[in-house]
Amino acid sequence: MSAEEKEAQDPVCGMSFDKDEAAATMEYEGEVYYFCGESCKEEFAANPDQYAHTR
Ligand SMILES: [Zn+2]
Repeated sequence: MSAEEKEAQDPVCGMSFDKDEAAATMEYEGEVYYFCGESCKEEFAANPDQYAHTR
């Protein structure tokens, strides 16, 4: 019943939304990231290390 699994956060702008509603997704180092739009995805793709949650 947790809503957490369904919820994703855009690492670029910080917006939260349902994974179903993500406008774009990208896999990076084995993790899937969700984005509100193509512009955030492109920003992430340009600087993944700046936005990805690293260990
Ligand atoms: Zn965004």
